[in-house]
Amino acid sequence: MKIAIAGAGAMGSRFGYMLSKAGMDVTLIDQWEPQVTAIRAHGLQVNDKGEMTTVQLPIYYPEEAIQNQLQPDLIILFTKSLQLEGMVQAILPIISKDTKVLCLLNGLGHEVIVEKYVPKENFFLGNTMWTAGLEGPGKVKMIGNGSIALQERMPESRETAVRIAALLSEAGLNAAVSEHIMYDIYKKACANGSTNALCTMLEANLYTVGNTTCAVDIVRAFIDEYADVAAVEGVALDRDAITAYVKTAFDPNGIGLHFPSMYQDLITNNRLTEVDCINGIIAEKGKAYGISTPYCAFMTQLIHCKEEIAGAK
Ligand code: NAD
Repeated sequence: MKIAIAGAGAMGSRFGYMLSKAGMDVTLIDQWEPQVTAIRAHGLQVNDKGEMTTVQLPIYYPEEAIQNQLQPDLIILFTKSLQLEGMVQAILPIISKDTKVLCLLNGLGHEVIVEKYVPKENFFLGNTMWTAGLEGPGKVKMIGNGSIALQERMPESRETAVRIAALLSEAGLNAAVSEHIMYDIYKKACANGSTNALCTMLEANLYTVGNTTCAVDIVRAFIDEYADVAAVEGVALDRDAITAYVKTAFDPNGIGLHFPSMYQDLITNNRLTEVDCINGIIAEKGKAYGISTPYCAFMTQLIHCKEEIAGAK
């Protein structure tokens, strides 16, 4: 099976490395010039828990993937949310009627974008607990262990979902077919939505934020907004269980000393954030459903103000 990873930043590189290490035919596709140049010049440099490895992986710009008539059986989408639609449009000619597409971005609402271009029976929605970071163009740092949950969008595609999960698991990616992917996606969005923007606004790591008097109350207020919105869509979030889950992120012996990705995007790299698909979408859905979502609405505005002040791109 030919696999293409569209969006070869931290996560795309990590997955590309793990899949190729398992002997699979993987091609990276990316639009960020420094990443493409570095991987072509030096290979993908991988920091796997302190052990350094270099792997040669083909990497194309989208237009080169088209020129080279890349015909992937499976495309894994791993851009940031702001780049998703641009990437899908840019690689449209290599998405045939048989190509399967798996989206593993954080946040909500990606299916609305992808399904404008990909037939529902070929599209698989997922999320992942794997993590990774970039130590510079062409240099990926693999962090910890993880898993993938994915689900078909049409009942007739269940067998394919099982095959995709098995393929990813063969590469050690620990994938499983979920019976309730929207619950999994909402749960992770709760974690991202209640802590990422907070750490970014307060310019502190998870542990420092978690140690403040108000942190847990704020987290709970966010989670209540997610749960109210999800309920309208038939997803019944367990508010207490998710609050307990999010609180584990504050543990300094776990990921507490980590600065979340939104912090890294805006504060470290002066990049625009994924706040619209993490918090903003809850405010939007809330408005449509007649539900009050003041925390998500205000936090989205604050992050956008901070992006503007920083001149983030
Ligand atoms: P990333 O920012 O590393 O890569 C996404 C895209 O941005 C790639 O095309 C990459 O080449 C480009 N890029 C990377 N650094 C850049 C820079 N400094 N300037 C301009 N472009 C740059 O994103 P990621 O961390 O791989 O995340 C991809 C998706 O997966 C996101 O939706 C994210 O929320 C989600 N996710 C990330 C992690 C994680 O640990 N990184 C974990 C789970 C889910």
